[in-house]
Amino acid sequence: IAAKTNGIEKSVWVEFIQLALEVKPLNLGQGFPDFAAPETVTKALAQACMNDSNVLLNQYTRGFGHPRLVSALNKLYSKLIGRELNQLSEILVTAGAYEALFVTIMGLVNPGDEVIIIEPFFDCYVPQVKLAGGTPVFVPLRPKKTSGVTSSEDWVLDPKELANAFSDKTKAIIVNTPNNPLGKVFKVEELMMIADLCKKHNVIAIMDEVYEWMTYTGYKHVRMATLPDMWERTITIGSAGKTFSVTGWKTGWAYGPAELLKGPQVIHQHSVYTCTTPVQEAVAQGFEIELERFGTPDCYFLSLPAELEVKRDNVVRILNEAGLNPIVPEGGYFILADTRSITSKIDIGGDPKERKDFRFVKWLSRNRKLQGIPPSAFYSPDHGHIGEDYIRFCFIKEDENLEKAGQILLELK
Ligand code: PMP
Ligand code: GLN
Repeated sequence: IAAKTNGIEKSVWVEFIQLALEVKPLNLGQGFPDFAAPETVTKALAQACMNDSNVLLNQYTRGFGHPRLVSALNKLYSKLIGRELNQLSEILVTAGAYEALFVTIMGLVNPGDEVIIIEPFFDCYVPQVKLAGGTPVFVPLRPKKTSGVTSSEDWVLDPKELANAFSDKTKAIIVNTPNNPLGKVFKVEELMMIADLCKKHNVIAIMDEVYEWMTYTGYKHVRMATLPDMWERTITIGSAGKTFSVTGWKTGWAYGPAELLKGPQVIHQHSVYTCTTPVQEAVAQGFEIELERFGTPDCYFLSLPAELEVKRDNVVRILNEAGLNPIVPEGGYFILADTRSITSKIDIGGDPKERKDFRFVKWLSRNRKLQGIPPSAFYSPDHGHIGEDYIRFCFIKEDENLEKAGQILLELK
């Protein structure tokens, strides 16, 4: 086994998806919708595979992205970023946002480089940085408030702590907004603070914006690439799985200046080379439809967050009723809930060497058939305690399933 895999063997997904297969709980763990995806894309996919006149759509397509998809992404992001992208050199289609993150990190980070990661973070950033030979440097969001009604808005960066994390070895910073698992939507002032440090230290911003369309009333997603002088040092990552509620399609992209995208393209061309053609065709058609109705209530980019906001409000009510203080998310489709009201009175057992949230999530799955995800998985070992008193629930689920989860939690009150 290659030495580079040492120390990165564990994955919260592998562990908890296996547990879900075993105990068949009500699954609010891994993030995926339990309802139908929009027909705009599912019908397009069926047609792309079936239609005789589309015979080539079942064959290889262009390696850096199916022409119709890069053209649709170009139209969309040129409009959102306020500059004309070059669809041949500034957009790369990948096997999910996962691959976009992987090729970006592998294509830009050299051995010995430091990469700043804001906590809580999507867990794959760390092994990816390590595989590239880089060193992760962690800066946690810290809560300004921990009692009463709290919001992801209360979790902020300490400007000094962030500034101190930058050194002459820093190559990049990875920022996820809206954030998984916290639901934080970074404000323009917060992004500006990060941008100023990136410019001062000549650092690349790797922006994981897979939940870009999922923000709730009062909060707006700001794209780092639109901030002054940031386009040239930013790679932005998106996901069709999140955008169109088709996580099983594993199609994503990275966009940014050609100079920065060159390395990631090389890694992609020698690993995945080209992504599934009919899926890219269907996603392209999905974007074309949304572009036509862009800004109208029917546009999926507005109708999905409107639907999700109702679910978020329901989940907040359900968790409050059950005595699990939630951190109300400003965006995304996850919520963190404080488990102390349960863990303080129930013996959850498990291996005491394991963090409390891991033990609680296992206990809840096995004993109450409800699954969440332990948030300390989204922290470095030194900061894991910040997430240890919470559980993450995914709320892009049918209302009746959210209510059932509420019943289970109420019985523990
Ligand atoms: N980044 C974040 C923050 C995510 O939550 C996910 C979901 N798995 C990904 C990246 C990966 O997305 P994809 O399923 O498109 O690979
Ligand atoms: N992004 C999803 C989540 O956070 C799925 C992660 C995964 O399957 N690796 O739950």
